Amino acid sequence: MRRRILVVEDNLANRELLGDWLEANDCEVLFAENLKQGFAAFEGQPPDAVLLDVQLGSEDGLVLARWIREQPALRYLPVLAVTAHAMITDRERMIQAGSNACISKPIDFKLLREQMQQWFDATASHQPAR
Ligand code: MN
Repeated sequence: MRRRILVVEDNLANRELLGDWLEANDCEVLFAENLKQGFAAFEGQPPDAVLLDVQLGSEDGLVLARWIREQPALRYLPVLAVTAHAMITDRERMIQAGSNACISKPIDFKLLREQMQQWFDATASHQPAR
């Protein structure tokens, strides 16, 4: 099944880099540049995972992570926080906000692949067989 991944990232180059990699890995990609667009992406069929840049210009990306965790239907949605390497000490804040994991920039795509697989597997174990 082709997975739909929401990339919330304010930087165009990073958005393209992530988008290209996800598409090359057989994912359908939805993009958001800010919180408003991020929330709008949940108005229809929700994505299967979110890659969330924590620093969206002046906005705090974790606002979206907290909202996602407040929605019963999105309880197990994988949310991977993406952050500048220097901010990785903020890991606790990202996990507290509801992120499943933190990925530092520049992105190690092997690590990202492993994290995505791990959280898709965890999500699948919470859903009835279809
Ligand atoms: Mn950013």
